[in-house]
Parts: sequence; C-alpha cells; structure tokens
Amino acid sequence: MSFSLEVKNELSRIEETHDCCRKSELAGLIRAGLTIRMNKDKQRVLFITENAPLSRHLFSRVKELYHSGPEVIMLKTHRFRTHAVYRLDFTNFLQEASGGLFYETGIDTEPQEDKLIYKPYMLKSRCCKRAYLRGGFLATGSISDPDRSYHLEISFPNRLLAEEYIHYLKEFGIESRHILRKGHYLVYLKEGQEIVDFLNVIGAHGSLMQLENIRIVKDMRNQVNRIVNCETANLEKTVNASCRQVENIVYIKEHLGLESLPDGLSEIARLRLENPDVSLLELGKMLNPPLSKSGVNHRLRKIDKIAEGIMLEQK
Ligand SMILES: [Zn+2]
Repeated sequence: MSFSLEVKNELSRIEETHDCCRKSELAGLIRAGLTIRMNKDKQRVLFITENAPLSRHLFSRVKELYHSGPEVIMLKTHRFRTHAVYRLDFTNFLQEASGGLFYETGIDTEPQEDKLIYKPYMLKSRCCKRAYLRGGFLATGSISDPDRSYHLEISFPNRLLAEEYIHYLKEFGIESRHILRKGHYLVYLKEGQEIVDFLNVIGAHGSLMQLENIRIVKDMRNQVNRIVNCETANLEKTVNASCRQVENIVYIKEHLGLESLPDGLSEIARLRLENPDVSLLELGKMLNPPLSKSGVNHRLRKIDKIAEGIMLEQK
C-alpha cells in the first residue's frame, strides 16, 4: 500500500465528535473534490475516488448530517489491473434550498455553464480549520513515499479554493507553495518538517510517527555516510585500537579486577572504558597531571601485555 493511501485510510477512520468539525471536514472534502461531468446529456455533480474507505466515510458523513446520502456507483476498470472506482453522485443535492449540503458548504452552480461556483468558506474555530484541511487532503491530496522523497500536494479546481487552503495552513504556521498546472491549482509542501507539521494538524498521528521513524533512519544513514566519506582512515585506526584496548581492559577487570593494576595503569584503564571514542592525545589531557600521547600509548601497551599474560595463563 502506498504511503498516501495509508495516510488517507488513517484519516478516514477519525471520528470527529463535534458537529462543527464534521461539517467543516465535509466542506473541505466536497469543495476540493467535486467535479461536473456530462452523463447521458445530463449534468452530474460527482465525487470520484478509487479509495473505498474514503467513499464510505464521505457517504456516511453526508447521511449523518443531511439525512440522505449521495447515490454510489462502483465501476470496475481494467486499466493495468482490475480496480474499482467509486462515483458518488451529488446532483440531487443541488435542488435543496437553504440548510442543504451545498448551501452550507458554499457551493452553487451556474445554470447555463457546466461549472461550480464557490463562495468563501469562513471558519472561526481551530478545531474546524483542522477538519477542513483534513477534508481537502482526503479529497485530492497525495503524499510521496518518504523513503524516496518529501512531497505533499493538494489539488484545487480554482484559485479561490487554493488561496483559502493556503490561508488556513498559514494559521498553523505552515508555509506552502503553489503552482497552476493543467488548469488545477496545486498547493504543495516540500520539506520533511512541513509535512510532519501538516500531518499533525490534520490528525494523522500514526502516519506521522511512521514518517518520523523513516526520517531518523535517513538522518543516521546520512551521518554514517558523512563519517565514512569525509573523516579519513585515521578515525578508523583510532576506533580499532580503542576496541582492542577496551576488550583487554574488560578482560583484566573480569579476571583480576582493575584494582590489581598499578595506580598509573588503573587510572588510564578506567578513563579508556569511559571514553572509548577519544584519541590518545585527548585521553592524556584527561589525566592529572596530563600525560603526552606517547606516555598514554606506553601505558595502554602495558595493559595490553598484562591482558595477554592472563590469557596465556588461562590456556
Ligand atoms: Zn469544530
């Protein structure tokens, strides 16, 4: 399943408890998602989706709030492989007067033209703004697989809707960009952090965690690559030597105890155990009085010898 679909499935399962938010989410959904199609010489107002949970969610939301649902038709297509397309037909809702779905969501039609007219949709509460943003994303949004890249976009049929959406995003501190492509206004986010913030605002917390985990792994991989690429073989030498020293010190600790070592050696052994990743020079500076690099090296070699001695006895 694509990440886009996972996010939408999660969002479709959110149960809003407030009526105000239910209406706002619905407005977000149908304002972004409705299209007009001619069907058998009749103008039809449709919401078309391939997402079954979304079609169920939209249907039941409309039914709860307006007591009758849109007509749903499932079509099977055989493009690439068989899959279903759901067509939710809202044409009958156009006849309803004030208090109806279209009236409340600020949508009208121009009698002669095959065009929907949108009035501005004003929202006051933050809860409703979140719900409205969620609706828009559910309707026409998509998000790329975060393993590959960070890109999230929502498509709108006209400028007013896009600007409204951008405005509400801004109220949550999210700066989006937009372009006009093939007659659609695309509002998009390109930064990982912006996408994380957006998922948080619209309540996709599970998907957010998933994305954060991928980001962490990506970051770590980048850091490791940087170390491998940039920091020369010197580092590796330090690490290898340190590993051997630490192993030997632990061996002595387990067989004789560090207190069995002479003072100068037990001190450096303890320091090495606590700081396995520092250079000999730095280790020397930690001693009081400080010791030169070769002095440290000398003591650590003695420790190696002692460990080797115990190993021989054990055989
Ligand atoms: Zn609300």
